[in-house]
Amino acid sequence: FAPWEDPGEKPLIQFRNVTKKFGDFTAIANLDLDIFAREFFALLGPSGCGKTTLMRMLAGFEAPTSGQILLGGEDIVATPPNKRPVNMMFQSYALFPHLSVWENIAFGLKREGADKATIETRVADMIRLTRLDKFARRKPHQLSGGQRQRVALARSLAKAPKLLLLDEPLGALDKKLREETQFELMDIQEKTGTTFVIVTHDQEEAMTVASRVAVMDEGKLVQVATPDRIYETPSSVYVADFIGDVNIIEGRASQTGDKVLLDWAEGASPLVASTTALLQKDQTCFLAIRPEKITISAEEPDTANRLQGEILDIGYLGNISTYHVKLPTGHVIKASATNTRRIGRRAFTWEDKVWLSWTDTAAIVLER
Ligand code: ATP
Repeated sequence: FAPWEDPGEKPLIQFRNVTKKFGDFTAIANLDLDIFAREFFALLGPSGCGKTTLMRMLAGFEAPTSGQILLGGEDIVATPPNKRPVNMMFQSYALFPHLSVWENIAFGLKREGADKATIETRVADMIRLTRLDKFARRKPHQLSGGQRQRVALARSLAKAPKLLLLDEPLGALDKKLREETQFELMDIQEKTGTTFVIVTHDQEEAMTVASRVAVMDEGKLVQVATPDRIYETPSSVYVADFIGDVNIIEGRASQTGDKVLLDWAEGASPLVASTTALLQKDQTCFLAIRPEKITISAEEPDTANRLQGEILDIGYLGNISTYHVKLPTGHVIKASATNTRRIGRRAFTWEDKVWLSWTDTAAIVLER
């Protein structure tokens, strides 16, 4: 059982019908959310959807306009930030420039009056955990971006918070370092057993690090699930489109049993997809098909869903290529294929006439 599937497990954090207004603007609307101990939970969504506001309410920098926030079953809305077992790591890291790495990490412990021996042990543990052994005496300006990020992490974990909030923690790092650091972050989260809540607008990052992802839109949660569920079974076109690459084909449905036939273009054969949804006759719906679920071939395949088109554009990514294929209906479909040595750099080239095909279980039927 994952904690969120275990009916006996009590959530560490509960948002109960939380609304946050700034003047008459509603930033968060009637939100309910449970986060469990030891989760690595990601808040994902476009700029302005309310991720930071949600996080700031957890930290205690903002109070909800209405509703409750519980931590370990107790309402913390009236608890000031420094009295919460919560720490926040900012994107800017906010390290003290005049203090060494060691002193930066020790800062919070000293301020709360921990004894010398405790501070020594705890800082040493954090330095080991974040692999900063060689840098303990340096000042922040003598460190690389990645090392500074680790100091900020060590400092925010030093007081052993129950909950660590990470606001775009890897935003300042370049792509390669960012990817390496994602794995480090996961490792540290697992070793300390601290609950992490991360805010990011990088969907790949959220998918990589998180046990569960909450996708937000205009102050609401639109889907909360594990990364693979969000990718494989998005709840709406919005989610499908936000996470990864996808083709969306709109049409009108007719249903027989668990199969949907979608009329999607004049003169074209209907597309077939499996679904568990119950649709009305002629209901507008959408097929979401990931590019990698589409087979691209030179010869006409023997499948129900097959469309012929012409290659308009090719994105070469080394291991795969993404083809933009223009159909006679005007639709442009994205299909990706693995590049193999045998066929050289790519399997197909511009203006090639190709067939696109997919099975009826490869497409997701969405109602909105
Ligand atoms: P980003 O990814 O750009 O940081 P976000 O999803 O974190 O965006 P929030 O910072 O939570 O978004 O903001 C949500 C909405 O609330 C935005 O429209 C923002 O303008 C508004 N907002 C946030 N803080 C305030 C404030 N103090 N006063 C008025 N409006 C605010």
